[in-house]
Amino acid sequence: MCCLGWSCSIPVVSESQALLQGLSLGGSHSCFSFVPGLGMDFLTLFLVYLCFVLLVTALLCLCSGRKESFLARSVTRASQVLSLVIPTQLQRVAHRVAHGALHRLFHTRSCLFVVLHIALQAAVFGEYTWEVFGYCWELQFPLLLLLLPYLLLAGNMGCFLLCSRANPGIITKSNHASLVKVYAYDGVMFQRGTVCPTCTMEKPARSKHCSVCGTCVHRFDHHCVWLNNCVGASNAAWFLLYLLSLTATATALAAITLSFLSHVVQLSNLLHSTYLDAQGQEHPVEIPFLVQHLFLTFPRIVFMLGFVILLTLVLGGYSAFSLYLAFTNQTTNEWCKSRRFGVSHHVSSQPPDRQVVYKNIYSKGIWRNLKEIFRPPTALERKKKT
Ligand SMILES: [Zn+2]
Ligand SMILES: [Zn+2]
Repeated sequence: MCCLGWSCSIPVVSESQALLQGLSLGGSHSCFSFVPGLGMDFLTLFLVYLCFVLLVTALLCLCSGRKESFLARSVTRASQVLSLVIPTQLQRVAHRVAHGALHRLFHTRSCLFVVLHIALQAAVFGEYTWEVFGYCWELQFPLLLLLLPYLLLAGNMGCFLLCSRANPGIITKSNHASLVKVYAYDGVMFQRGTVCPTCTMEKPARSKHCSVCGTCVHRFDHHCVWLNNCVGASNAAWFLLYLLSLTATATALAAITLSFLSHVVQLSNLLHSTYLDAQGQEHPVEIPFLVQHLFLTFPRIVFMLGFVILLTLVLGGYSAFSLYLAFTNQTTNEWCKSRRFGVSHHVSSQPPDRQVVYKNIYSKGIWRNLKEIFRPPTALERKKKT
């Protein structure tokens, strides 16, 4: 059994350390002593960091498609609470600045999130290329596996460009007459004769006015700040492919990095080693020590891994939701609105005095629904079917 711990004055070169250095993986190990309890504190801090990143990501996702964002409402509520202690003038200024910033961020077309999106991808791929790829190459991982994230990234960037630069289905005076015939009005969520006050045109069924783009969009799904574009009938397919390829990229990066770290643990026999605590007592290596050891040995890789795991979970959930919407022929806008009504997937036989029950009349079965995403129907096709 080898000994990993170093009570600071006596550096003991362990088998695992020699192996890590032999693989040129470990770099220079700093001598640290593991104090029982410190591992738990470290893990708690790490979990707090993970929860914080998850919370911020979830908040950004929540806010990205809403007219009156959750953040804006939170700012209003916070200012109401703070009004008890802060002078009125200062409150007004702070309120104006906060709302102005949020409005600029979420309700005007801006490249800020696109730049952030590209910067995050560049940082993650920079780290993968700089460290993980080289180490995995030394550990003789298959080349095709190591190249997979780059292939997925290329596909993802292609979908990103096509989706963000595409016309999502903007309703203009010239195409209005044909678009208004594409979908039937369900009489609950989409009423015939509803006019958009900004565009001064009758809204076709399933369309919505996007306040960020300032146009009505055919089969409106949502406005995506990460793409700086609306998602509508004409780019819904690219959006779905973009989302799936992004999820696959994050999953591949997480899987390869996890596999690399587990290889390091296996090769160095870390799990069957012991360490010396500050009192010089020997303990078998446990998970908190292992995580701390890996974090201190490969800080950037573990940091990147935490981020891509969170991304995989968030994007995986969102992809599952988007696939559910695609299979049931619903848009995000319709799904959100349908929460206000009762939802029925069957022909309703509700008595007329009961509350209005929304029924999705656009679903035609999984296969045809999916086909509709990739080949949006035209007025001519609907005419042929009826
Ligand atoms: Zn409009
Ligand atoms: Zn928009």
